[in-house]
Amino acid sequence: MSRKKISPRRGLYPGSFDPVTLGHLDIIRRAAPLFDEFYVAVLVNSAKKALFSAEERVKILQAVTADIPGVRVILFSGLTVDCCRQYGIGTIVRGLRSGADLEYELPIARVNRSLDPEVDTLFLTADARYEYISSSIVKEVASYGRDVSAMVPPEVAERMNAQR
Ligand code: ADP
Repeated sequence: MSRKKISPRRGLYPGSFDPVTLGHLDIIRRAAPLFDEFYVAVLVNSAKKALFSAEERVKILQAVTADIPGVRVILFSGLTVDCCRQYGIGTIVRGLRSGADLEYELPIARVNRSLDPEVDTLFLTADARYEYISSSIVKEVASYGRDVSAMVPPEVAERMNAQR
């Protein structure tokens, strides 16, 4: 693994993004300007059954973030802190929709800091318009043949509605 010097001005937004929602996109738009370089990583998690392949999720993320300066979409298989180390990233960004998200995120942030004290986690609160949206709700609604265009970017809605 390369040893690029870690900088807090490089940010990483890791997730499954299966699929990317308007909530994720809002976090990316708000976080990207805070950094010199902002990476969005599709983290491959073998435990989760995916709707879109990891490569497809990268392609969709590239399309929906094309107009946001400084954003790079990457695919990473492994620990988030190892991804940070590889790209010299010092700040992990996560979105918080609720107390439940915070409870889930706190131990992960603490473990990440213990694994690599140079890497910190920054939380952004979900916008009120999107705090009810999750990738799993989108998949659930779509699985019953309903329109999901109020919850996802048009690129995702087209793909999901095509399967209706
Ligand atoms: P993971 O599988 O790592 O939970 P997700 O793709 O579900 O990945 O989410 C990635 C990040 O985006 C997490 O920090 C999650 O809390 C946040 N997030 C998910 N949905 C929203 C939303 N609607 N608004 C703001 N943040 C969100």
